[in-house]
Amino acid sequence: MAKISSKCKLCRRANEKLFLKGDRCSSPKCALVRKPYAPGMHGNSGVPRGLSEYGKQLKEKQKLKRIYGVSEKQLRRFLEMARRQKGVLGDNLLTLLEYRLDNVVYRLGLAQSRAQARQLVSHKMFAVNNKMLNIPSAILKVGDVITVRENKRDKKLLKEIQAILSKDQKVAKWLAFDVKKMEGKVLAKPNREEVALNVDLAMVIEFYSR
Ligand code: SF4
Repeated sequence: MAKISSKCKLCRRANEKLFLKGDRCSSPKCALVRKPYAPGMHGNSGVPRGLSEYGKQLKEKQKLKRIYGVSEKQLRRFLEMARRQKGVLGDNLLTLLEYRLDNVVYRLGLAQSRAQARQLVSHKMFAVNNKMLNIPSAILKVGDVITVRENKRDKKLLKEIQAILSKDQKVAKWLAFDVKKMEGKVLAKPNREEVALNVDLAMVIEFYSR
């Protein structure tokens, strides 16, 4: 039997798909399809676990962290930044998370998962506004241009990128990507409908307001 990866255990614990493993997540090989219950001895006991209000908030916060692959410290920092901005706090937080360089690379369709995007960014694959940037947590803004650096454009990578772009993983509406130039651009702020995130952001904010 195939071994269940630690990423998949996070989905099974959350009892929903967090889409952490690219193509596999939409296939019958998805661990949550094969084992739709929590990991561990009592995961398949059939006894539903009731959650307190705190437990629900904690669950939503953990989901958000796992989806974007951010640490507790980073999430707190984003929330502080979001509080200092004008507008709706939840929207501000979501925009900051979506504007992370690794997430933008993923949303452009240049990687199958955010984890893969992080790896590509760390390997100095991209330039932002013509300057190499290898910090996955760097926050972009409207107008920024992301380019696959010329010395990194080998045939294998281009083939992989084109394969991803031709599949159902489309470029997010708030971004644009020019395949010939291998260049993406941040066009606008993402809105909640476009991001379609299955996380209750109000609960996450309540968790940190305790
Ligand atoms: Fe694993 Fe992806 Fe399925 Fe989650 S959605 S259990 S990461 S294959």
